[in-house]
Amino acid sequence: MKYLSILGSTGSIGTSALEIVRMHPDLFRIKALTAANNIECLSRQIDEFKPELVAVFDENKALELSRLLKGRCRPQILFGEAGFIEAASYTDSDTVLLAMVGAAGLKPALCAIEAKKQIALANKETLVMAGELFMAKALENGVSILPVDSEHSAIFQCLKGNQKKDLKTIFLTASGGPFREKPFAAFKDITLKDALNHPTWNMGNKITIDSATLMNKGLEIIEAAHLFDVTHKEIQVLIHPQSIVHSMVGYKDGSIMAQMGQPDMKTAISYALSGSDRLNLQMDFPDFTSLHSLTFEKPDTQKFPSLLFAFEACKQKGTLPAVMNAANEVAVKAFLEKRIGFSDIFRLISRAMEVHTRIDNPDLSGIIEADCWARDIVQSQI
Ligand code: MG
Repeated sequence: MKYLSILGSTGSIGTSALEIVRMHPDLFRIKALTAANNIECLSRQIDEFKPELVAVFDENKALELSRLLKGRCRPQILFGEAGFIEAASYTDSDTVLLAMVGAAGLKPALCAIEAKKQIALANKETLVMAGELFMAKALENGVSILPVDSEHSAIFQCLKGNQKKDLKTIFLTASGGPFREKPFAAFKDITLKDALNHPTWNMGNKITIDSATLMNKGLEIIEAAHLFDVTHKEIQVLIHPQSIVHSMVGYKDGSIMAQMGQPDMKTAISYALSGSDRLNLQMDFPDFTSLHSLTFEKPDTQKFPSLLFAFEACKQKGTLPAVMNAANEVAVKAFLEKRIGFSDIFRLISRAMEVHTRIDNPDLSGIIEADCWARDIVQSQI
């Protein structure tokens, strides 16, 4: 039996994880849940999964939740970063699913490691901002990091039964997003509605925009470099519109291992939550006879410079990845609020990275400082 804390339980990864828990009550028990703001959904989850502790972002939401649960079974209700940290390091949990979006996941993630929990990591921003620190802390505390991102889960699975020393190239696949075939000249006319319409994956708003700009793949380059201890030179991005091959690992003898399946996050989530077990998810295989072809192409970095930004940040390290991530978060938020256009996202990230004075081997406060600096710079240009 695994005892779980789920941080970000009302988001797309969180709700898929709870679906798996619902299918396998003999394997999982929920101990703690956290959500940013969606207390209606959280209250339904509390009724069903009976956690002992929950946390929400602000105090008013905590009070509202408490009123909403009146007369029903009620867990301890906390709020703010302290609440998320409490859920991440909760004594009765042994496994923590980090599924919060953005930089807000960083401190709870580090606390979960210090509390020696097994980590199922969906929050890629944590690794992008503070990968060196995070992986060193995991090693120091004997904690294993199990990737939840479908590409990284695929790479993790392709590495099983092989030796890291034989790895030559990681082929990171990307669907290409909704604008793969759109000419560069038409990028200025892209609307929010167009960008939120992802062709193969059904995800939250921030990651859907990140997929449209290919910044999601950019973040995943840096995530892969940390998780699998490789450099930017060993990572190649391939556009694979069918999203059947979730990523591949090439070895020095010319052999390539691929992990395939339906584009459904439940496979990767269950593999991480169970500690690399294959659970029965009643999932259909892709119908290969009706697929006709699986295609792969080189990404167009003129249209999607995010990949260049990410390779540069991955190469230079220090505070640059945190700056890229923060600039992206602020720009995406502004795009979601219709305050800037689609191409402005690239312009703002590029500018922040250009004017940033990079610091090598930053500690946590140095990383947070760089993150805040980038947010201010981007904000001032919107
Ligand atoms: Mg992914």
